[in-house]
Amino acid sequence: MNTLTQLIDTYAEKLLQAAKTAQKQAYAPYSEFRVGAALLLADGEIVNGCNVENASYGATVCAERVAVWSAVAAGKLSPQNPPKALAVTALPCALCLQVLSEFAGADLPVLVAAADGAEGGYRLFYLGDLLPQVFRLK
Ligand SMILES: [Zn+2]
Repeated sequence: MNTLTQLIDTYAEKLLQAAKTAQKQAYAPYSEFRVGAALLLADGEIVNGCNVENASYGATVCAERVAVWSAVAAGKLSPQNPPKALAVTALPCALCLQVLSEFAGADLPVLVAAADGAEGGYRLFYLGDLLPQVFRLK
């Protein structure tokens, strides 16, 4: 069993539960599509995010980016304390994958909670599978 597999086994249930808890905090009066995200950092801390919609639809922010920005704003996410895994209640959009790629490599595990809500059920992807080509300035 490699390190990544051990990490996923250790944190999957806790991370998925955190994402589902965050989902309950979503502000989604327009789409009623509530999403939760939980970002595991290298130091073991978990930072949650939920989608926050706005009457001006373009101002809406996804759960994944709320989690990343919350972690950055709290001084918790940095090159020295990068993400180690992400759990979400829905597949991330490409914009969120690009934001995640700023802080994580292609091997970031992305656990997507099973749509049927089965206990402990999730699909495992890696950031590089979901976004094989990343935009880079340099
Ligand atoms: Zn998104």
